[in-house]
Amino acid sequence: MSSTFPTFEADTPRSYRMLIGGSWVDAADGQRIDVITPIDRHRVIATIPRAGEVDADRAVAAARAAQPGWAALPFTERQRALLRIADDLEAVVEDLAALTALDTGNAIRTQARPEAGLLVGAFRYFAGLAGELKGVTLPTGSDALSLTRRLPLGVVAGILPWNSPLMIAAFKLPAALVSGNAMVLKAAEDAPTTVLELAEICARHLPEGVLNVVTGYGPEIGEALVDHPGVDKVSFTGSTATGSGVASRAGGRLAHVSLELGGKSPCIVLPDADDEDTVEQVMLATRFARQGQSCTSGSRLFLHEDIHDSFLEKVVARAAQMRVGDPREESTDIGCIINARQWDRVQGYIDDGLASEGVEVAYDGRPALQVGEPGFYHAPMILTQVRNDWRIAREEIFGPVLSVLRWRTEDEVVAMANDSHYGLAAFVFGRDIGMALRTAQRVQSGWVQVNQGGGQQVGQSYGGMKASGQGREFSLEGMLEGFTQIQQINVRLS
Ligand code: NAD
Repeated sequence: MSSTFPTFEADTPRSYRMLIGGSWVDAADGQRIDVITPIDRHRVIATIPRAGEVDADRAVAAARAAQPGWAALPFTERQRALLRIADDLEAVVEDLAALTALDTGNAIRTQARPEAGLLVGAFRYFAGLAGELKGVTLPTGSDALSLTRRLPLGVVAGILPWNSPLMIAAFKLPAALVSGNAMVLKAAEDAPTTVLELAEICARHLPEGVLNVVTGYGPEIGEALVDHPGVDKVSFTGSTATGSGVASRAGGRLAHVSLELGGKSPCIVLPDADDEDTVEQVMLATRFARQGQSCTSGSRLFLHEDIHDSFLEKVVARAAQMRVGDPREESTDIGCIINARQWDRVQGYIDDGLASEGVEVAYDGRPALQVGEPGFYHAPMILTQVRNDWRIAREEIFGPVLSVLRWRTEDEVVAMANDSHYGLAAFVFGRDIGMALRTAQRVQSGWVQVNQGGGQQVGQSYGGMKASGQGREFSLEGMLEGFTQIQQINVRLS
């Protein structure tokens, strides 16, 4: 463990401050929030400032003051800062993974470590794109010069959820910074510690005020940032309900907005894919290994009627092998749900599904659970004979609950997959590649995977359709579209 990375073994909670204008500060009114670990509901691992409007003013003012100088640097300077941050992050990537496990309950091997690794990769990737922030010239004649410039938006407020804080920070922070914006990042109140450690590393290599990190509750510091006239763009990741409110408030003052919201993603298995390899990939798509707390979870499994029973049998066998346990242990596949509220919510959906007429329980891992109180552990649950109009097939559960539906024809499965107000991710599995690709292209989702079920790759386009979101930020095109604006300059030369 590096000498600068804190240990969390002591009984005393770590007291964090926020990063504003290069200084570590408390909330203006001194209020604090306790942060517990989902592994033990009684254990407070940290306390964080409960920021409010005054703190939003301070953070936005610091970002506004720093942004012009940061944008004016040669792109190679911003590139160098991001590369240095990547190197420092890489040196503590295991510590960040261990802290993610403690802070979010995500299991270290299956989720926390890949998430920390993706953060390092994202800083390197966007550093490499620094020189792509260039304009074009238009050949309007020898007496004229017609050119465009790519300019940053100014100050970006990034609002993060708790489910994978480092991964979502990776989707926003390096792209916003390399394109010359300053940022105020708001960590989620339930899982803020890794984002504050990330801030400490970034602050070593960035001018004061270019990155500010604040903590607190959504309706307090979150809304204060969304409403703030000094924030040029709100980049929000969270639930569709909250995102809708954020969009209308920010839109009301004509700020730029991007939204990464919820999903109820279809996972379609064609009749020729009844094999173990497909089952492995479908297991990844279920995001059981993330307790189902993933916006891209393939939570509606559409099985062709010819293979329904045999494929489901294999899925159940694999689910039964998954080990729910302490997220810090390498042998654990599935860690903890974030908090009591979310645990109860998942339970509510299970009760609702079980009360539906005709539902069948294909797998209920709860009786075999070896872990429980004081942690928020939950085993996978697989329900079949589900109808597409039931709540468990329409609403985002954000828990390890899989709804299985039967289908017969290609048109029918495409219609069922698209009969959702969400459109984030989708998965199609089939050996008939023509049918698989045809189906993939007909699904109304921002990200469709064919014959694979894993997570996002650095540099890919990522974002939702319909109520799952607006805007793209994670690719080269996403960075240009999401964090820059174009200035056209026309010059008469004679
Ligand atoms: P949430 O909407 O409750 O909170 C997200 C963030 O918004 C938190 O930091 C919260 O403090 C803040 N917030 C809450 N109210 C606010 C307000 N009125 N104004 C400004 N900010 C406010 O979501 P959550 O429960 O933290 O996260 C789970 C949700 O996030 C799920 O729906 C999941 O699908 C979604 N999510 C989407 C993606 C994606 O990439 N599409 C990724 C991860 C999570």
